[in-house]
Amino acid sequence: MVEKSMFGSKIGLLLLFFLSAHFPILAQKNIKIYTEEDNNLIKLYADNMEYSPISMDLVLDLDNFKAADGENQSFTLPARSTKFLLTELEISDRRKVSKFSYNFKTWFGPKELIDENPDFEYSLPFESGKSFILSQGYDGKLSHKGQNELDFTMPIGTIVTAIRDGVVIDFVEENDRGCPTEDCKKLNNYILVYQSDGTLAEYVHLKKDGVDVEIGDEIEQGQAIGFSGNTGYSSGPHLHISVFQFREGRKVTFPTKFKVANEEQAIFLEEGNFYEK
Ligand SMILES: [Zn+2]
Repeated sequence: MVEKSMFGSKIGLLLLFFLSAHFPILAQKNIKIYTEEDNNLIKLYADNMEYSPISMDLVLDLDNFKAADGENQSFTLPARSTKFLLTELEISDRRKVSKFSYNFKTWFGPKELIDENPDFEYSLPFESGKSFILSQGYDGKLSHKGQNELDFTMPIGTIVTAIRDGVVIDFVEENDRGCPTEDCKKLNNYILVYQSDGTLAEYVHLKKDGVDVEIGDEIEQGQAIGFSGNTGYSSGPHLHISVFQFREGRKVTFPTKFKVANEEQAIFLEEGNFYEK
């Protein structure tokens, strides 16, 4: 998740060459960082081609440069935005060699804390009329310790529906196997949605080629988005979902209420119960 680049120049010529070419010196997620020179300042910009805001921590290492806001900075890059000004660097002493380098980390979603509404009515992630058991609930012993995550046991190929409106920002669907140990996490097929309130929702363990949406698709609550499976870190066919935000690079999950059949108000789901939509 960390990349690094370095420019050095004795008289600024090499630097200018790169600058004039608008050379994209880094790509991470769909993010480009590049520099331009403007009246003795070097301006560092970012383009974010992702469909959600991106939070970024930027660490500068400056040698004979000054940065207006210091060497450690963090930002929220708006979704689908170009030329977001990160920082301006000024050469301290023009007679000396000057160089800079930086590294950065990024996460999906804004860095600002989202005021998540715990009473929002989520929709169960399967079709109306269907009923599945919640095999692991919040803080579940198997793999949800300390996390607000839900597992519904369901046969491979069950239609998965969106729990809330949002836009699809990432997915993986090429994996075709799983195992009950954490080293299989890298084989998770999933869909990641940037939801209308700024939180993220994940739908995990989907079957191979089980994603029925594209990145950038706007989806509505209840819409079919894919098919459940048993890929990745999974001990049997099930769907794993959670709603979360990255805070300081850490995944913070939220408890959410769901509408269920024969209940007037949305409820928190409990492990071991069957829930009908
Ligand atoms: Zn799970």
